[in-house]
Amino acid sequence: MFVSLRFERNFATSEANIIMNAAIAIDFVETDNQRLVSQMIRDFGLREIKPMMMEWDEQQIFPIDLFRKMGALGLMGVLVPEEYGGAGFGYLEYITAISEISKIDGSIGLSMAAHNSLCSNHLLQFGNKEQKRKYLPKLATGEWIGAWGLTEPNTGSDSGNMRTTGVRDGDHYIINGAKNFITHGKSGNLAVVIVRTGEPGNSRGMTSFLIEKGTPGFTSGKKENKLGMRASETAEMIFSDCRVHQSQRLGLEGEGFVQAMKVLDGGRISIAALSLGIAIGAYEAALSYSKERHQFNQPISKFQGIAFKLADMATKIEAARLLTFRAGDLKDKGLDVTRESAMAKLFASEVAVEVANEAVQIFGGYGYTKDFPAEKYYRDAKLCTIGEGTSEIQKIVISRSILR
Ligand SMILES: Cc1cc2nc3c(=O)[nH]c(=O)nc-3n(C[C@H](O)[C@H](O)[C@H](O)COP(=O)(O)OP(=O)(O)OC[C@H]3O[C@@H](n4cnc5c(N)ncnc54)[C@H](O)[C@@H]3O)c2cc1C
Repeated sequence: MFVSLRFERNFATSEANIIMNAAIAIDFVETDNQRLVSQMIRDFGLREIKPMMMEWDEQQIFPIDLFRKMGALGLMGVLVPEEYGGAGFGYLEYITAISEISKIDGSIGLSMAAHNSLCSNHLLQFGNKEQKRKYLPKLATGEWIGAWGLTEPNTGSDSGNMRTTGVRDGDHYIINGAKNFITHGKSGNLAVVIVRTGEPGNSRGMTSFLIEKGTPGFTSGKKENKLGMRASETAEMIFSDCRVHQSQRLGLEGEGFVQAMKVLDGGRISIAALSLGIAIGAYEAALSYSKERHQFNQPISKFQGIAFKLADMATKIEAARLLTFRAGDLKDKGLDVTRESAMAKLFASEVAVEVANEAVQIFGGYGYTKDFPAEKYYRDAKLCTIGEGTSEIQKIVISRSILR
């Protein structure tokens, strides 16, 4: 079902930014790696996720042991090179993995995405050799869970205005403040945290640090009680005179915000993949139900009103799939994907919400109950239009790149 796309464009000059004129060749080939990843996750999901997922959802349990098992399969270090204990794959395999997991349970997909493409990827892109050697093998094998802290209670979309500060004190920085809505804010063993080290309003006034759980002055706060994605832990991280040695700094002082924006370019491809998986899961459930459910002496799929819904759902999913794999393909080629990842995230997340909504409709009253999967897809999907930049923020990113 999954395809990898090879997009070849004429990048003779900086026309990489003018997509309307770019020559794009598309080659639909599913790689062996993608097939293997899909099959492995389907088997794993049936065995390890499906039997437990509603209990995790209802009780808001973050199933930490599951992530250790996923680590053993390479799913916690998909993009991490083999020399650091990862699977050493590219974005096409990564998108395949995130969407396959999210077809089963979006909240496991969200946690996998935050661990892989926010925490580990920030370290991979901006850490020095010593930092990578120290932490990546632990993260890639799932021995440690990663978190990434940018958002604060008063600064979400406007994250550049953050209040958490890091003040130099000899070889250390003293960190004070709080980050909220952080995936694995409680259970994360290592957090990449972006704090203000310069003047407010200066995008070069922020710096990122690697902070281990248990560092004095670093505690967790409230765990959120959420609408969906309930097996993915979302919690506050609190810093109170937390001393962090300068060797834990990622890159140079002042680079933190710029690093975070680059990390989000890849992160948004993750959320597009997460959205794609949720949309496919909801669609497949609705499709099979529509063939089984009879009303007026025939399957409801025979009604044009239902068949047209399925046609719209399938078409939107294909478009979301193309945008997502396209962004991944460009990312694998080392090209700038700020606009493409924002487009993929915007479109795929809105599609996930629309498709999950229609799935509930096709299930009728049963779609409104916990006995069928539609309601969970519906609840989980909504996060995709919010996390890692809302749909409105994606439109700002896209329109800026078009209008500059
Ligand atoms: C389950 C979950 C997991 C998360 N995980 C993480 C994580 O691991 N790490 C992390 O750092 N953050 C995380 N977040 C935070 C997430 O990235 C933010 O919630 C998101 O960026 C939006 O910020 P906000 O919630 O403060 O909303 P706000 O910024 O307050 O936005 C409120 C509304 O105003 C709109 N808005 C804001 N500015 C503009 C504008 N300029 N133009 C038009 N509309 C605008 C928004 O689109 C939105 O509709 C997570 C959030 C959730 C819910």
